[in-house]
Amino acid sequence: MLVVGGGIAGIAAALRLAEAGVPVTLLETRKKLGGRATSFKDVRSGQVIDNCQHVALGCCTNYLDLCRRLTVAHKIEWQREIYWFECGGRVSVMRAGGLPAPGHFSGAFLSASFLTVGEKLAVARGMLAILTADRDAERGRTFAEWLAAHGQPASAVEKFWTPVVVSACNLEPTRVSASPALHVFQEGFLAHRDAALMGVSRVPLVELYDPAEAAIVAAGGSIRLGVGVERLDAREVLTTDGERLRASAVICAVPVERASRLASEEARRSDARFAAMERITHSPILGVHLLFDRPVMRTPNAVLVSRPTQWLFRKDAEGRAVHAVISAADQWVPLDEAEITRRVRDDIVACMPWAADAAVLGSRPVKEKFATFAATPEVEAIRPSTVGASGIVLAGDYTRTGWPATMEGAARSGYAAAAAVLGKPESELLLPPLPPSPLVRILGGPAFEAQPA
Ligand SMILES: Cc1cc2nc3c(=O)[nH]c(=O)nc-3n(C[C@H](O)[C@H](O)[C@H](O)COP(=O)(O)OP(=O)(O)OC[C@H]3O[C@@H](n4cnc5c(N)ncnc54)[C@H](O)[C@@H]3O)c2cc1C
Repeated sequence: MLVVGGGIAGIAAALRLAEAGVPVTLLETRKKLGGRATSFKDVRSGQVIDNCQHVALGCCTNYLDLCRRLTVAHKIEWQREIYWFECGGRVSVMRAGGLPAPGHFSGAFLSASFLTVGEKLAVARGMLAILTADRDAERGRTFAEWLAAHGQPASAVEKFWTPVVVSACNLEPTRVSASPALHVFQEGFLAHRDAALMGVSRVPLVELYDPAEAAIVAAGGSIRLGVGVERLDAREVLTTDGERLRASAVICAVPVERASRLASEEARRSDARFAAMERITHSPILGVHLLFDRPVMRTPNAVLVSRPTQWLFRKDAEGRAVHAVISAADQWVPLDEAEITRRVRDDIVACMPWAADAAVLGSRPVKEKFATFAATPEVEAIRPSTVGASGIVLAGDYTRTGWPATMEGAARSGYAAAAAVLGKPESELLLPPLPPSPLVRILGGPAFEAQPA
């Protein structure tokens, strides 16, 4: 078997195949594994930094299973509190309290200061509607349309719904399909009290995925780094060096914009998935690494309410090293480094006034223009399935996993691809979501009916 592409999807597929005793070779064009969840050596500071903070949630059962198989799960730090900063510095702490799901955030939510009483009532109504929503039936409209249909005021959309959805789906509510957005709230917040736990890597991302090589080899597979693929079909791969490799199955786990270009002409003719994939568009993410001359961040994370810079992460013990994340960053892409730094610093000072005198000693913006596919209603309708007429097996966050473009989506797609090659039902390799609480089962709609207790 051949797996082409050594991002999370390709690693997941190759590892599960090797563990099943199948001789598998993973081909990766770069010299390292991990794909878009990556780190690099910053020539200015000499430090290894991530392209961007990658966050996993407690509900990412398959991604966390992969981390356990790679023996790196202990490198993920779990943050139970999320700090919402308003302009002026007032903070609301979101943490699960003693009530069972779906009520576990109600205490924190009721005492949060960034929403008015009216906005809280509206959000609570919205959450109840989400509990019973049939997300598969909501693919065709945007989340903004769904929110409007459920009476959400513009202020609650701006202060609450938008920061959550933009960071989880990398698209504004006006563009993202309601289906993945509802998915995030159903499985990432409401179903289980640990679903929203926030996992961040304690080490550069590359250290999470480097061990994949040893794990796959130990399980009986092999890895070839620095081998690019130029063409592939269901049984053969042509590398950029002109080497032809035959296999009983080929899993294509490259990013969506590459996949249809690699497929052979015959495969593209016979398999409608490839033409559809050419219509899948992207959404950018901007990560900004900042170093201040004094401590500015007093909490491990921060959501900046109603500011263009959406998230901050503290990257050292003192709070001088700060990583800022801007998802759906279309308007930031044309800006130069100085302007990006100025805007992010302004946002930080607006919400953390004690940072006003802090000077920026170093700034390293990283723009990822093709960060994720754009989960619009049009794209949700054409996300490809794992298997298709050409016989080429697809893996990648863009395949029809139901998840937005995430590490969980990528891990799931890899496990599903391995299941397809092994001729097994997906349910044999995929882990189920966290079990919904008994109350969620009683109150919830179709999203929770089929799930295991
Ligand atoms: C800036 C940024 C921030 C993100 N933040 C988060 C987050 O907080 N939480 C989260 O869950 N997700 C996040 N994501 C999304 C997450 O990184 C992706 O969903 C996931 O890594 C995709 O994995 P993949 O294996 O599907 O694809 P990729 O990671 O793109 O892997 C594809 C691999 O194929 C290789 N390849 C390409 N062409 C060829 C070829 N011709 N021959 C051989 N190999 C080839 C590539 O080098 C790459 O290694 C973020 C992404 C970005 C870019």
